[in-house]
Parts: sequence; C-alpha cells; structure tokens
Amino acid sequence: MIPIAVPDTSGNEAKYLQECIETNFVSTVGPFVKKFEEQICIESDAKYGVATCSGTAGLHLALTSVGVTRDDLVIMPSFTFIASANAISQCGAVPWLFDVSSESWTLDVVQLRTTLINETEVFEKNLFHKSTGRRVAAILPVYTLGHPADMEQVKNLAEEFNLPIVADAAAGLGSRYRNQNLGSLADLTVFSFNGNKTITSGGGGMVVGNDKNLVEYARHLSTTARVGEEYHHDEIGFNYRLTNIQAAVGCAQIERLSEFVEKKRYIDAEYRKHFSSLGGIKFFPRTHWATSACWFTGITIEDKRLPSVSTLCKLLKSYGIQARTFWKPIHQQPAYNLAPKEQMLVSNSISSRILTLPCSTQLTKEDQGVVADAVNLILRNSDAK
Ligand SMILES: *Cc1c(COP(=O)(O)O)cnc(C)c1O
Repeated sequence: MIPIAVPDTSGNEAKYLQECIETNFVSTVGPFVKKFEEQICIESDAKYGVATCSGTAGLHLALTSVGVTRDDLVIMPSFTFIASANAISQCGAVPWLFDVSSESWTLDVVQLRTTLINETEVFEKNLFHKSTGRRVAAILPVYTLGHPADMEQVKNLAEEFNLPIVADAAAGLGSRYRNQNLGSLADLTVFSFNGNKTITSGGGGMVVGNDKNLVEYARHLSTTARVGEEYHHDEIGFNYRLTNIQAAVGCAQIERLSEFVEKKRYIDAEYRKHFSSLGGIKFFPRTHWATSACWFTGITIEDKRLPSVSTLCKLLKSYGIQARTFWKPIHQQPAYNLAPKEQMLVSNSISSRILTLPCSTQLTKEDQGVVADAVNLILRNSDAK
C-alpha cells in the first residue's frame, strides 16, 4: 500500500529518545521540552511558546487563556477538523459556524463582517449575539490544509469588534502569510504535532504568541495551575504538558522542517503537472497572499459525471493506493447540529468533492508516478469522457 501520510523518523529521533532513557528524563521535566518550545518559536517567529500534549489540548488551553468560558460563542469556519469545534465545547462554549471563501477555503471574512454588523450588539463592552443572547468571546480562524486565513482582514474585524484571535494553525507550520511566518498573526497560535502533520512528536501541540503574560498564563493552566513547590493551585487547571520523550522526537523532526516542507511543496507541484491535462478536476486553492506548506495535497472533482470521491478511494485502494475523503464540515456533524450557523454554500459544495492523495515526505518519484497513473487512468476512462 502507498500510504496517504506517514511520518519519517529516520533522523535523530532514535538518538534523542535513547538520551531520554539514559538520563531518565522521560516525563514532563527535561531539556527537550524547552528546546522544542524554543525551536518552534524560532521557526514561527513567535516570542513565547508552551508545549502541549496535543493540538486539541493546545486549542482548549489557548481559548481558555483568552477568556472563553461557559455559554460563550466562538466564531469559527465550519469547514475544519472536528477538533477545532471540540476545543470550544471543552470550554463550555458553543461554536458559531461560518462559511469559508472559495478563494482560500478559509474563514469567509465578508460573510463574517456582514453578520457581525447585523446580528450582534455591544453591551457593557462585550459583544452579544442578538438571537441567542450569548456573548461572542473570540475568533478562531483555521489555516486549512496549511493555507493561512486572510489574517489582515481577520485582524481588522477582531479590532473593530474587540475580540481576541486564537488561530488553529494545526497543520500550518512552514506556511507564510504575506511573507510573515505564522506565529505573530494572532493573539495565540496553535500548532499540532500529531502523526500525520508535517512534523510530528508522536502526539503533541504548541501554543505560541508574543504576549508574555498571556503565554505564561497558558503555561500555568497547562501545569495544573500550581503555584510554588507545594500542592497549592490558584485555579482550575489542566494536565496538558508534553513529555520529554515526545519533545525529543519533535526536536529531531524540526531539524528537518525545511526539507519536509520543500518535499510537500514538490509533491503538490508534481501532482499539478501530472494532472494538468485532466478535465473535470481542480487543485486545492492557492492565493497571492499566502504560501502554503502543502500539508495535504490532492484534487477536487468538478464534473458530476466523474465517480464520487468515496468510489475513487475504493478504486485506488484496489491499486494499492491509500486516498481519502476530507473533512465533513462541523454543521453536518450530529454532535453540532444545534450550533448557530450561517449560510454554507462553499463548505457544502467542496466538502464531498475533495480527494486527498499520498503525500508523505518520503514518497518516491516512482510511487507518486504510480498514484498519478492510476488517477489519470480511472478519471480518463470514466463516463465523463
Ligand atoms: C490535526 C488538527 C487538529 C488537532 O490536532 P491534534 O494534535 O490531533 O489534537 C486541530 N485542527 C486542525 C485543523 C487539524 O488539522
């Protein structure tokens, strides 16, 4: 089987893990955690960072740190992985779901602006959603497939409506927005180092930002809100720390970040070449204001006469190729059918038409050729032709 996205741990991973065992630093105390935090800050141009045991935990921690609490609403795009919404729910808050733009598949800032003007009001310095009476507490843009949201626009809205921004940059490391790295575009930015992301720590995440007090507050909450060496805790905290073992893997991975991102972009460019004469399909969005890290790559099916994405996945499986459907939007998830939502023209249109293809960093030219040939063969021989 040619897998869709598997990690490459052939660098210093084994060496650093061995170091953890030899020094007996296997848990949440140890030099790799600090080193990993520093490295991610350097790579993302953020001043401060706190490592967490997952991206989801990082999102929950970041939202809590900017003050999201029970019964609040948090603005987010519906077209994302379920974890973005779950982190909001874990605060006791509710996602307020918006569409994405067809240009970038990220938060539709035009719809957001109109809706905020028409459907919210300010009361005692807080913004309220008129129809539910809930306080609007934050904006959570998602850097879809590693492609940043249009953060200048998001920031303008955040300022206008006095809302903090927590960015879900889970798959965004290595991307750029108007020639900036991602760590300074939001109040807090959250990365994931899950196994299928561009770099992995086995499992893990990180919250980064430039406001020292805010990031230190997040760190405090991530370590059970303990004060001092004794068992004194000044509020309800979490156990969200990353272990030295996980950070050791992360440190080995980040040494190869630029190599991995380069490879991801190369794979994306190669698929674009292989399918350049194929009708009825399109590629994932690119905009002039961002350079995606191309976390995932694939095509969208534009011609209704072509096989459905699930059929394509089954056919490709018979060729020994793992291909996948992509996110089902949050408003279509049973768990979120009560969440307030706006019109979802783009999310509804794209979500069932996305086919993701093998894009592991160690994918060989030959294997990518096998994938491309199979896709070409299947789509060219379909009824649409
Ligand atoms: C991977 C991902 C997450 C969750 O990260 P975990 O580390 O798996 O908890 C959240 N949001 C998006 C957009 C993701 O792709």
